[in-house]
Amino acid sequence: MDFELSDSQKEIRDAVATLCARFGNEYWHRCDEQGAYPEEFVRTLSEAGWLSALIPQEYGGAGLGMMEASLILEEINHSGGNAVACHAQMYTMASILKHGSAEQKQRYLPLIASGELRLQSFGITEPDAGSETPRIKTFARREGDHYVVNGQKIFTSRFQHSDMLLLLTRTTPFEQVTKKTDGMSLFLVNLKEAGEAINAVPIATMVNHGTNQVFIENLILPREALIGEEGKGFSYVLSSLNAERILVGSESVGDGHWFVEYAVKYSGERRVFNRPIGMNQGVQFPIAKAHVAVQAAGLMKLKAAALFDAGLPCGAEANMTKYLASEAAWEAAEAAMNAFGGYGFAKQYHVERKWREARLYRTAPISNNLILSFVGEHLLGMPRSY
Ligand SMILES: Cc1cc2nc3c(=O)[nH]c(=O)nc-3n(C[C@H](O)[C@H](O)[C@H](O)COP(=O)(O)OP(=O)(O)OC[C@H]3O[C@@H](n4cnc5c(N)ncnc54)[C@H](O)[C@@H]3O)c2cc1C
Repeated sequence: MDFELSDSQKEIRDAVATLCARFGNEYWHRCDEQGAYPEEFVRTLSEAGWLSALIPQEYGGAGLGMMEASLILEEINHSGGNAVACHAQMYTMASILKHGSAEQKQRYLPLIASGELRLQSFGITEPDAGSETPRIKTFARREGDHYVVNGQKIFTSRFQHSDMLLLLTRTTPFEQVTKKTDGMSLFLVNLKEAGEAINAVPIATMVNHGTNQVFIENLILPREALIGEEGKGFSYVLSSLNAERILVGSESVGDGHWFVEYAVKYSGERRVFNRPIGMNQGVQFPIAKAHVAVQAAGLMKLKAAALFDAGLPCGAEANMTKYLASEAAWEAAEAAMNAFGGYGFAKQYHVERKWREARLYRTAPISNNLILSFVGEHLLGMPRSY
């Protein structure tokens, strides 16, 4: 058992940290204030090749493993940044890589790897279905050699910063399937070609996230837009989830480190009652506790990524990584907020921005309640709650 990163993994981590240092807290603060997409950061990261980490070399990617990919995203958030702006470019392509046709792989993966094509938007969540994905109603009706899609999605992020959208629809109504996860299909939608058949309306949220309500009306999709087999879309989405859980968990681990380091520094400098506030156990212990939690989440992430890279089952570890990491980051966010006192609320100190950003991962891309349901049912053999 080896918990040490290899030399090349350390080099990757350090190179990403150096790149991120050019985009400090002030850069992310400005993007947040203006509700702006961190275009320059995403472009720089793409040009350096980091977002192509998981794309095999034969398609122009870096051909790295999950361990390396997780270090890249962790380091972005550790630096004070927010990898959510571009993380989907790293893993949404997995559906094409695993289930796409040879033609789809040749056509799209090299362009995604070079950053020329952005595939960072995916539409799964719907207003009436919520966490119960099989209840989605967006429907793709087959007509000859094409599909006609109608429906509605909610919280579709980065729509305006993506060339393609990965869209989950029903192709058989819920009422007509025996297994409720059957009858859903996954499509790769070219947003330029879609034109006015898709209308995205931004949702104002507490984070700078660029998320949208999406209305789809008579969208015509060619047969080639379908990924894999009709009716199997849900299983394709599921097969990418372990990667998503590990990567999102890595971002939370990065957030956790940022909060702990920032809080330690501040509480050593800030003097009240003629001593640094960090001398008070009421300030020190919450930071120490959060550090312990972040370290534990980081270890679970190492295990999940190692299993993933070895091609072994890692659903349990991937889910537990996402849970532990998002909770640890939140604990660290709260500890930092308390350590900063009133200044935690002042935007120029950056804590409140990171606090808002870290909170998201307890809810999205999957709520931690649903992860606990998975643990109760699938790992502990307890009764299904829904
Ligand atoms: C900023 C942001 C960006 C997002 N980006 C995307 C995106 O790009 N693409 C996309 O498809 N989706 C996206 N989402 C949606 C996100 O995945 C969902 O919000 C999340 O999965 C929860 O679904 P919901 O909001 O409908 O909550 P609901 O399903 O309405 O649940 C509400 C609460 O009830 C709890 N709950 C519901 N049922 C149970 C149960 N059986 N047991 C225990 N607890 C339960 C949930 O855990 C949650 O806490 C995004 C969300 C946000 C906020």
